[in-house]
Amino acid sequence: MIQFKHLCARCKKNFVLVSRTQFPVCYDCQKAELAQPIKNLKMKKLFAIPEDFYKQNAFLREIKMKYIRFGALTEKQVEAFKKVAAELRAQKKSAKALP
Ligand SMILES: [Zn+2]
Repeated sequence: MIQFKHLCARCKKNFVLVSRTQFPVCYDCQKAELAQPIKNLKMKKLFAIPEDFYKQNAFLREIKMKYIRFGALTEKQVEAFKKVAAELRAQKKSAKALP
């Protein structure tokens, strides 16, 4: 995924890494909305990833926001979310493996 550094469209203070089609909003601006409880157990499990991942990745935030706003995600969005979360997990692991 090619990402660009953008100034957050809301606070205009923090920079966010987003792909070309994403709306740039930083973690701080989305934090309150992202913290809303998820009632659906299956979705709750999906979104139960380390908070750091949401901090690092605007895409993961966007997917969760979509679910909070619309109450549903497409199969494709769920798969993309899982894929990105898995990539971040792998990155974290390899970073830990370094001396
Ligand atoms: Zn912001």
